Amino acid sequence: MRLIDADALEEILKNAITIQEGMAVALGIEKDEGVQMELKAYRDILNSVQEQPTIGEENSHPTCMNCGKEIDAVEVLLFDHEGSDHWVMSPIFYDEPTGGVSIKTTRSWTSYDDQESYKESIRCPFCHEHPFDKEAGCEVYEPIEIVMWTKGRSSEQ
Ligand SMILES: [Zn+2]
Repeated sequence: MRLIDADALEEILKNAITIQEGMAVALGIEKDEGVQMELKAYRDILNSVQEQPTIGEENSHPTCMNCGKEIDAVEVLLFDHEGSDHWVMSPIFYDEPTGGVSIKTTRSWTSYDDQESYKESIRCPFCHEHPFDKEAGCEVYEPIEIVMWTKGRSSEQ
């Protein structure tokens, strides 16, 4: 298991797109539907990594409800191409007045199809437990943004 951060992920995606485009042009298959779909998938993920979140600011930090350490990122479990999973660091956007926290991720999030399991797929980088209010649940917005709470569930954002 190894960690990569959001900046690294962005860099990997940009390189993948550049290489893919270059290959398609070199092979004269840039109009091919499969190539177009693959490039679109890469660009969608890149957009979701770059989008600004619905709530919160990146420079304001919550504390882990389990170990009490201040955290500016969480580890998120993502599937890779081979279907195995690995933890990826995601910066936290924190809205102190409501206690809302959000992170940006992709459809590779292992809880995307079973959001009830978010407590097992998002963890504190220090104690490896889920760092937020486990009773409050989560909400997921497209492109993928997961909103959780540090002090009970807030109705307004
Ligand atoms: Zn912790």
